[in-house]
Amino acid sequence: MLREVLTAQWCLESKVEGDRMKVALVTGASKGIGKACALRLAKDGYTVVVNYSNSDAAAQETLSQIQAAGGEGMVYKADVSKLDQVKLMIREVFKAYGRIDVLVNNAGIVRDEYLLMINPDTLDKCFELNVKGYIYCAQQVALKMFKQKSGVIINMSSVSSKFALAGQSVYSATKGAVNSLTQTLAKELGGYGIRVNAVAPGFIATEMIDAIPEEKRKAYVEQIPLKRFGTADEVANMVSALVSDQFAYVTGQVFVLDGGLSL
Ligand code: NAP
Repeated sequence: MLREVLTAQWCLESKVEGDRMKVALVTGASKGIGKACALRLAKDGYTVVVNYSNSDAAAQETLSQIQAAGGEGMVYKADVSKLDQVKLMIREVFKAYGRIDVLVNNAGIVRDEYLLMINPDTLDKCFELNVKGYIYCAQQVALKMFKQKSGVIINMSSVSSKFALAGQSVYSATKGAVNSLTQTLAKELGGYGIRVNAVAPGFIATEMIDAIPEEKRKAYVEQIPLKRFGTADEVANMVSALVSDQFAYVTGQVFVLDGGLSL
């Protein structure tokens, strides 16, 4: 019944596998880019798992918006920088839905510190979430995708991995690692029907950017050929396209979406 209703609503037969809806897990989906990806993938016909680590009300709001638009999903609180929590989350998602078709590795943090001021805690936190967290999620999801012989992983990178910004050595190192991880996983997993790509946004108007002082933000806008920050929906559009069959022959690539900043 659910299948008929949703299929009729979105005319998206391709999002149904056997008797089950295809499932997308978006990490860090309570806010910002992750939230926009979750809403977009739900609109595309996926059942969406909204992962987050702290913001209960915001995550619930993401799910409410999905449901208000006729979509399906659940919220799942887990700190993805912790392997035991990731393992439990994937096990529970699989128990609930029986499959995982898309992983958007999005949850990430930025800490701007110049080299001589880098705090060891910054180093640990950034690498634990932005690198180890992506590896943990990819590893645990791949175990399920191997059996399905299909799946798509999108890693949220950053233009900082390609375009140097003073003060971002730690953050950009984590995102450079994400790009390398994307290429290596694409090679390792391609034979199992799993594609892996990365999206590298420039400045996107989210809470992460709100935290930058006004003066600095104005200076950044000046450097962008399109003279504005991007929107989370614009990133979600790219993720939606990349997970679709339109990109079935594309893997191991890093797609920059930055209004021309890195040119
Ligand atoms: P954001 O608005 O700060 O949102 C971060 C999300 O990650 C929140 O949903 C947060 O949930 C979640 N999160 C944080 N720590 C987590 C953890 N340990 N486990 C699970 N979830 C966790 O960030 P954003 O700006 O949307 O950025 C999202 C991604 O895009 C990041 O990887 C970032 O590096 C990348 N990016 C952003 C920009 C930009 O301009 N905004 C540019 C380039 C790349 P809770 O609040 O519940 O913790």
